[in-house]
Amino acid sequence: MAHIVTLIPGDGVGPELSEAARRVLDASGAEIEWEVQQAGQNVMAAEGTPLPERVLASIRRNKVGLKGPITTPRGGGIRSVNVALRKALDLYACLRPCKHYPGVRTRFEGVDVVVVRENTEDLYAGVEFEEGSAEARQIVSLAEGRIREDAAISIKPISRFASERIVDFAFRYAVENGRRKVTAVAKDNIMKATDGLFYRAARDVAKQYEGQVEYDEWLVDAMCMQLVQKPELYDVLVLPNLYGDILSDLCAGLVGGLGVAPGANIGDECAVFEAIHGSAPKYTGQNKVNPTALILSGALMLRHLGEGQAAGRVEQAVSAVIAEGKSVTYDLKPSRDDPTAVGTREMAEAIVAAMG
Ligand code: NAD
Repeated sequence: MAHIVTLIPGDGVGPELSEAARRVLDASGAEIEWEVQQAGQNVMAAEGTPLPERVLASIRRNKVGLKGPITTPRGGGIRSVNVALRKALDLYACLRPCKHYPGVRTRFEGVDVVVVRENTEDLYAGVEFEEGSAEARQIVSLAEGRIREDAAISIKPISRFASERIVDFAFRYAVENGRRKVTAVAKDNIMKATDGLFYRAARDVAKQYEGQVEYDEWLVDAMCMQLVQKPELYDVLVLPNLYGDILSDLCAGLVGGLGVAPGANIGDECAVFEAIHGSAPKYTGQNKVNPTALILSGALMLRHLGEGQAAGRVEQAVSAVIAEGKSVTYDLKPSRDDPTAVGTREMAEAIVAAMG
C-alpha cells in the first residue's frame, strides 16, 4: 500500500529542491502518494498566515511530511514557521545525522556523528521580555542586583520531562541503528539549575540502557574543540535546543556543509523531514543549489516508514554520484565557479540514473 506523505515545497529554493527530492524518492522503489500543501511566504498574501491550519491537519492525518525550507523574515515580530510547526505537532526531537560521503571536500574524513537536539524548550521557548518592560523590571528586582536595570531578558526553561524524553529518544535511536555511544552535552558548571537538570535526567535514562549503549558527558565548549580535533571519537550527541542548533551546524560543516546535511523533526505522533539549510533566497528559481540534503532527508523518511531498502538505494545512489563528482552542483566542485557544475534538476536525474 502506498504511503501518503504531506509534501510542503516551502519557498525560496524550496520548490525546486522538493521537486528534485520527489523525483528521486518516486524512483526509489517505495510507493508514495504525495499530498502537496503550500506554506511559507507564497501563501501569506492569500491566507494571511504562512502556516495555515490545513497544513498541520494534513501532517496530523498522514503522520509524515517532507518539507522544503521556509524563509523567516528578520525582525518584525513574525515567528519562524519552522519553529511553529515543530511546536504545533510536538516534534520534540531534531535528528541530524552528519556523515561524510567520499567525494565531498572537507577537512575531515570519515566523520559519522548523529546530533539529537531537543526541539521544544530552552531559550527557544519564546519567553522574552524587552528592556524596561514591566516583566523585565520584575525579574530584575527578583535577581537582586545580578541583572542590569536596562537588560532585555530571555528565559531558558529546561524540564525533567523534556530532558528525559529527548535523551530516551537518543538512546532508542542508538539501539535501533546499531550506534555504540550517547554523549550528553550541556554546561552545568555555569547553568547549575537548567543544564544540571539536563545531565541528571540524562544519567537516569542512561541507566536503563547500561550494557547496551555507552554513555558519557561533555561540556559544550570542550565538545566543540573535541569535534574539530577528534570527531571520530563521537557517535550520538544529545543536547538541549540552543547548543543542539549550534553543534548541528558545526557537524554539518565537518562533513562538507549545508548542501549535504539532512534532518528530521520527530514526535510521538508525527515526523517532518527537512534539510538543515534554509531557503537560500538569492538562488531562488536558478536551478543551482544542491538537492542532496533534502534527498537524504527523504531517505531518512523512507527508513522511518519502514522502507529501509528503498532508503539504502537512495543513499547509495547519492554516494555514487558524489564520489564520481561529475553530475554535481557548484558547491561540490573544486571551485565554486567550476563551469562543469550541473543544476539541481540534473543532479537529481543523475541520482535517479544511478539507482539503475
Ligand atoms: P541558508 O541555509 O538559506 O543559506 C546560506 C547559504 O548557504 C546560501 O546562500 C548558500 O550559499 C548555501 N546553501 C544553503 N543551502 C544550500 C544548498 N542546498 N546547496 C548549495 N548551497 C547552499 O541560510 P540563511 O541565508 O541564513 O537563511 C535563509 C532563510 O532560510 C532565512 O529566512 C532563514 O530563517 C530560513 N531558514 C529556514 C530553515 C528551515 O526551513 N528549516 C532553516 C534555516 C534557515
